Amino acid sequence: MAPTTATTTTELSPPARAAVSGARRVFGSGDTRPLAARARRLRALRALITENEAAIEAALWSDLHKGSGEAQLTEIGVTLAEIDHTLRHLRRWARSRRGPLPLALLPARARLVPEPLGVVLVIAPWNYPVQLLLDPLAGVLAAGNTAVLKPSELAPATSALIARLVPRYFPDGAVRVVEGGVPETTELLAQRFDHIVFTGSGTVGRIVMRAAAEHLTPVTLELGGKSPVWFDDDAHLRQAARRIAWAKFTNAGQTCIAPDYVMTTPDRVPALVDALKEAVADLWGPDPRTGDDYGRIVDERQFDRLVGLLEGTEVVVGGDHDRSERYLAPSVVLVPSSGEGSLAVGPDAAHPVLRDEIFGPVLPIVPVASAEEAVRVINGWDKPLALYVFSSSARTRRLFEQRTSSGAVVHGAGLVHAAATGLPFGGVGASGIGAYHGVHSWRAFTHLKPVLRKPLTPDTLRLAQPPFTDGPGLR
Ligand code: NAD
Repeated sequence: MAPTTATTTTELSPPARAAVSGARRVFGSGDTRPLAARARRLRALRALITENEAAIEAALWSDLHKGSGEAQLTEIGVTLAEIDHTLRHLRRWARSRRGPLPLALLPARARLVPEPLGVVLVIAPWNYPVQLLLDPLAGVLAAGNTAVLKPSELAPATSALIARLVPRYFPDGAVRVVEGGVPETTELLAQRFDHIVFTGSGTVGRIVMRAAAEHLTPVTLELGGKSPVWFDDDAHLRQAARRIAWAKFTNAGQTCIAPDYVMTTPDRVPALVDALKEAVADLWGPDPRTGDDYGRIVDERQFDRLVGLLEGTEVVVGGDHDRSERYLAPSVVLVPSSGEGSLAVGPDAAHPVLRDEIFGPVLPIVPVASAEEAVRVINGWDKPLALYVFSSSARTRRLFEQRTSSGAVVHGAGLVHAAATGLPFGGVGASGIGAYHGVHSWRAFTHLKPVLRKPLTPDTLRLAQPPFTDGPGLR
């Protein structure tokens, strides 16, 4: 049963400058560095989630009509798994290691000492407002940093709840929340941070990177794009269609790694459409609007944009919508083909549904002549965040792996790589900079500092100092 009440608060956020200087003060105290203190804060983060699951579910329901099952799986469960994985491995990751030295520098010893960066800003989007805020936070705390969190103003119930809970679970101010939209984020970005993790659109990603450049602050940018699917696995048509539909229509398609469009050969299109129709009915029932498991579009602006995308397409599954509750059915569409020679998907495509990231429950099927042509389509544009391949041919799977570039490749499924805590999660090119999750978060928020100690005697450095009678000696 979906929760029915949402938590709201009228508490005011502290201004950006106060949040940053407060977090810097806590970092400066040194209290975030010991491993025991890092583990204590990770356990506090865990408790923040487990002790408030009902309130979190209610907020997600209010913001996105996200049902309890989906909230547990994609927000609460993944984040807890990330925290537990981090707690399990932290001691090993944080060990300082011996650093290799060339013979010419001996006698000397070097160690690689991991040290925290300082104050990290985490800016999150609205689509997974818990996971995409708290999952990076686990890595930030594990690495011994303090954090300022900026939840999305477009998920207001979740944002308010987090702003209310964080001071209770981090009373020393090691983690602070600044709520708000563009003006508040702009004010935050004017401050100096030691790292910024941004998840959102490429357009705002560029704004964040420009602001970060002012302070030479390193960034992790988790962006979006059009993640393609290739399908030719006739032997597993129904299973493949079910997995494609699940990956696409979870959270009403508002997932950065959702399949954006499916490419297949023209002869396979009718069977794939039928299988997708059956899969949608199996997963969300004959009328997804009446169930608790199918989400809603975040706001009217996005709703109007998505309904607009249906215009000029042939809607073969779904298509029904209701603005009063921002409901748009899981929809599959066919698009009239582009002119001869132009790529089916990309900046010159015939229809906007094939030009812009869809980020909603509209799935175009794009007929292409062959897997090689699909590779050409993918390579004709920005590198995607994810690529999904459903093929029974090892040769075809290799073709996509070796001849395209994307944040990740998944064969036979969609979305699942985001739940693999040991794998780096991130984009490449226009889909992002850097990666996180598990040890990759810890690395992203840690500086690996070489500490070298060379005894003053014997004075072997004498060989590197002038006068060079026989040439420099440190080779
Ligand atoms: P967005 O870029 O509009 O907003 C993200 C954050 O930036 C929000 O907190 C918002 O308040 C802030 N923001 C918005 N405009 C700003 C401005 N002018 N200056 C400063 N800050 C600003 O993104 P969104 O609509 O919340 O999310 C959708 C996008 O995020 C999609 O492109 C999607 O693919 C991407 N996304 C990526 C991932 C990933 O892990 N790579 C995950 C989820 C979403």
